[in-house]
Amino acid sequence: MDTIRHWINGAFVDPKTDRSADVFNPATGEVQKKVALASEAEVDSAVATAKKTLESWQHASLATRTRVLFAYRELVNRHKDEIAKMLTMEHGKVFSDAQGEVQRGLEVVEYACGLSELLKGEINENVSTEVDTYSFRQPVGVVAGITPFNFPAMVPMWMYPVAIACGNTFVLKPSERDPSVTNFCAELLQKAGLPDGVFNVVHGDKVAVDTLLQHRDVSAISFVGSTPIAKYIYENGTKNGKRVQALGGAKNHMVVLPDADMDLAADAAVNAGFGSAGERCMAISVLVCVGNAADKLLPKIRERMATLKVGNGLDPASQMGPLITRVHRDKVASYVASGQKDGADVLVDGRTLKVEGHDNGFWLGPTLMDNVKPGMACYQEEIFGPVLSVVRASSYEEAIRLIHEHPYGNGTAVFTNDGGAARKFRHEIQVGMVGINVPIPVPMSYYSFGGWKQSLFGDLHIYGPDGVKFYTRSKVVIERWPDPRFRGIDLGFPQQK
Ligand code: NAD
Repeated sequence: MDTIRHWINGAFVDPKTDRSADVFNPATGEVQKKVALASEAEVDSAVATAKKTLESWQHASLATRTRVLFAYRELVNRHKDEIAKMLTMEHGKVFSDAQGEVQRGLEVVEYACGLSELLKGEINENVSTEVDTYSFRQPVGVVAGITPFNFPAMVPMWMYPVAIACGNTFVLKPSERDPSVTNFCAELLQKAGLPDGVFNVVHGDKVAVDTLLQHRDVSAISFVGSTPIAKYIYENGTKNGKRVQALGGAKNHMVVLPDADMDLAADAAVNAGFGSAGERCMAISVLVCVGNAADKLLPKIRERMATLKVGNGLDPASQMGPLITRVHRDKVASYVASGQKDGADVLVDGRTLKVEGHDNGFWLGPTLMDNVKPGMACYQEEIFGPVLSVVRASSYEEAIRLIHEHPYGNGTAVFTNDGGAARKFRHEIQVGMVGINVPIPVPMSYYSFGGWKQSLFGDLHIYGPDGVKFYTRSKVVIERWPDPRFRGIDLGFPQQK
């Protein structure tokens, strides 16, 4: 059986220990590969390579860096379907969704291609007589990325194209559950002309992550994953003097007002609730129906759910695939059971779903629960599966209050035809990414992505302008050229004249 190896200094490296993890095909339940789990020494070797390469890469011309990124963009685009197939085989999401993931990652590569514009500094002439001042941004050093299973191509692409464009070197620790695509992208970066050692990959678990968190030669850490781990990364990374951005979990509420276009809202709820089997940090997991909205909306949602086809993601007829592991599948099922026990009504139950010819796959069908209430575990906690919970609110104010009182603040949406109501929502809501009649408001690559509250630890959002800030530090210069007029002793604090 193949073992997925680390990529250090432009080559695959045989693991030095026999620690490994299984990589499943979630549609069949079979173990298809093993992935090496890095030791401290292996992580150390990747960081040492990144540190050594930084000496040259941080001085590489903007033209050189731009050309590499353009070439990489072309290669990823050319191999998009191959990458998407790899994603489907290990993650389980359907092929068309995997293609969309690669496309959204590519958009960040395209943004990074504009690095010479992005890295422009600022200048003021004559801040004092014949004195000029200017500022510019320089790389932070060796950057580590730690990424989740649910977007194995896109989330790393939120990080390394921007970090590398800014002149940093990079060590990526991807999710151990679907690691193949990262190695493929590492080879593409090399083919694009990226010097060996700029981008390195260590596969692994907590051992690798802890080594990165404590490593004195790692300057910054970008993390995306669940909230408990995001918090752990932020606390430990910053304790060790690193710059950290740690994006966490979510519980995205979609508010539907009684005046909304109910067909649009039903399409949106089904697409955003069950796409990628709900394993998106921007998935809609709570539908807040205001007033009598539920009575109009729920029959339309059930109608649409009845037509959904769940199956192997490589089958073009499938609209939704399996969950990532059996353990995760059972955890999602346990939230449905607890909701039922706590008094919610399970209107559509996906727990008994069987997929013909795929008896051992990690299946759980689209599930709809009504009369979910704050305080229930299925409402408070992130489920991360194809479960849509309906909360009924008597007023718009109550709907907004529910969102404000929830610990997560990643994404949210409102569905209404009332411009004033929509404006109130976007102005007041305490959530980082907001959709108005749009259920999954993932920002374009030239904005930045990030939630509020327990969905993000750190100051800056990821990719876009915040990404450039995160991966660089600013330097300010004040400059005067020798002129006899300015000679002389003056012990006073410098003032502008
Ligand atoms: P996870 O937190 O389990 O894992 C993320 C990364 O952390 C992986 O690389 C993993 O190996 C590592 N890790 C796991 N446990 C660790 C530990 N104890 N110590 C150190 N490192 C550890 O997340 P996941 O299950 O892979 O991904 C799903 C989660 O990610 C969901 O909560 C989802 O909402 C979140 N997510 C958030 C965003 C966002 O932008 N906010 C985007 C995608 C996913």
